[in-house]
Amino acid sequence: MKFSKRIVNVGPSTTLAITAKAKSLKGQGFDVVNFGAGEPDFDTPLHIKEAAIKAVREGFTKYTPTTGIKDLKSAICESFKLDYNLAYEPSQIVVSCGAKHSLYNIFQVICNAGDEVIVPSPYWVSYIEMVKLAGAKPIIIETSTHNDFKVNCSLFKKAVNKRTKAFILNSPSNPTGSVYNIKELEELADFLLTHNIFTISDEIYGKLIYDDARHISIASLNKEIFRQTIVVNGPSKTYAMTGWRIGYLGTSDDIASAIGRLQDHSTSNPTSISQIAAVAAIKGDQSCVLEMVSEFKRRRDLMISGLEKIDGIHFFKPRGAFYIFCDVSDLGLSSEEFASRLLEEEYVACVPGKGFGLDTHVRFSFAISQPEIEKGINRIAKWVRQLRKK
Ligand code: PMP
Ligand code: GLU
Repeated sequence: MKFSKRIVNVGPSTTLAITAKAKSLKGQGFDVVNFGAGEPDFDTPLHIKEAAIKAVREGFTKYTPTTGIKDLKSAICESFKLDYNLAYEPSQIVVSCGAKHSLYNIFQVICNAGDEVIVPSPYWVSYIEMVKLAGAKPIIIETSTHNDFKVNCSLFKKAVNKRTKAFILNSPSNPTGSVYNIKELEELADFLLTHNIFTISDEIYGKLIYDDARHISIASLNKEIFRQTIVVNGPSKTYAMTGWRIGYLGTSDDIASAIGRLQDHSTSNPTSISQIAAVAAIKGDQSCVLEMVSEFKRRRDLMISGLEKIDGIHFFKPRGAFYIFCDVSDLGLSSEEFASRLLEEEYVACVPGKGFGLDTHVRFSFAISQPEIEKGINRIAKWVRQLRKK
């Protein structure tokens, strides 16, 4: 088959590949500790599942409006306003099949060939491929621990030119867990407005935040940046709903309508039953979120105290999301060698940093139980000690 040029240039998702490999080994009976998967191990809270079961029983199993049902859009507007001070109308919301789908749609709708999209590195693996699939060019700005893995105006200046169309902001970040504060966002917003650059703000980890960090949506800073930003969010991570495939965005009426037309001819509506579940998640009791966040924090602290004791591994303390991004370059292995050897020799899965644009690092997800974390850390410590002896 002679495939389209579009797909020939697209690599697989490193995060999904590792998750699949770890699950397959587990299925074969191996005792795998899976620090790879970027999904909460918690079950979807019961009241959310009950709402979906009721929807099935009541026959809510037909097409819905392409961009989502009224109740869900209203619930999303309320939560955007309450949680992040963002005032969208239901007509400005598009519900899609996961936040990944929302992001994919955005690039398809706003980019033309030759447009450039600025992506700070380390980045979530799919941004680069999504931008390329839209015919645009990703322009990478490298960040490091020296700037807490955050971009600033001086880094930005070098990357901007008249082809620059958009900028992807992901705070809290996958894979680093870094969180922008209000001053940093204000500085960025000024710069983006001056240069007329559109912001795509992926806020999927906005509720998963630790210590004194606060999630602020860049779009909430002023009316101008609100108009120049598309905010992406979804229930996958916050409510342990990765498999339900619901994501959404808030934007202007014209962009929402364009994305609606794209969805009309691609997926149509996201699953009717999942939409009802998402209403229950967003409008229901939020104590399940607080419980999960507290548990994530305990797990993060457990990871930190374990990794601190391992010579040769350095890490950035995450303040949001559920990942810990570790520099393993002292061990003399590339990120892929590190990840594949750790999986093959110790049955511990992690994601090589190469997929996130940083080959010196690997990503551990702490969305697994505390006993699993302890077991995994012990195996890593033992394995690294042996490596360093050689
Ligand atoms: N953005 C980021 C940064 C992510 O890590 C993910 C993980 N899946 C997504 C978007 C997409 O989430 P989903 O499609 O499951 O809603
Ligand atoms: N976003 C998660 C991760 O980074 C899930 C897998 C994916 O969609 O990339 O691992």
